Amino acid sequence: MITRQFGIPVTSPGAILRRESDLGTPLGLETAETTQHGGLVSDKIIVQLIEDWLRLHGASGFVFDGFPRTLPQAESLLSILKRLHTALDLAIWLEVSEQTVRDRISGRLQCGGCGFTTSASSAKFAERPICPYCDGPLVRRTDDEAEVLQTRLQEFNTKTQPLANFYEKMSILHRIDGNRDRDVVFGDISQLIEQKATA
Ligand SMILES: [Zn+2]
Repeated sequence: MITRQFGIPVTSPGAILRRESDLGTPLGLETAETTQHGGLVSDKIIVQLIEDWLRLHGASGFVFDGFPRTLPQAESLLSILKRLHTALDLAIWLEVSEQTVRDRISGRLQCGGCGFTTSASSAKFAERPICPYCDGPLVRRTDDEAEVLQTRLQEFNTKTQPLANFYEKMSILHRIDGNRDRDVVFGDISQLIEQKATA
């Protein structure tokens, strides 16, 4: 949505890693194994992939979704950006309750054929959920199981939560209530980006 509205490239470690895994690179296969079990890929690998991506796509602005997730990642990002003579304008903190996370995850389906992701509610019209692109079966993602979620929530509390302070001290943190409708949340994010673009 951000790319469509502002022409700014967006990426996430997940997107980069899925691409590596689809391409069947050794790094991709190794990290797929880790994420299947709910673990986080090492900071060193994530940071290297992000730097490569930035050099290729980040020349006229960029947005990271779900990165950085740890303090060491945030510190590495700062030094990468220093090397590339650029800086962060905004850190947007989406505050989402545990219940919202559970509701959204339990409603998510993914195509076994092409990887297309949708929500169970938009696939409801069909008796058998079928991918609109390749007719593959839409199934619950395998990494969505309860145990994996528990691990993720724990990792969020111990590793990601400290980032709020980190970016607050840099005076670039903006908190947004992410429990609301997707369009309302996007409206708020757009407003922040517009303010920065015209400042
Ligand atoms: Zn498909």
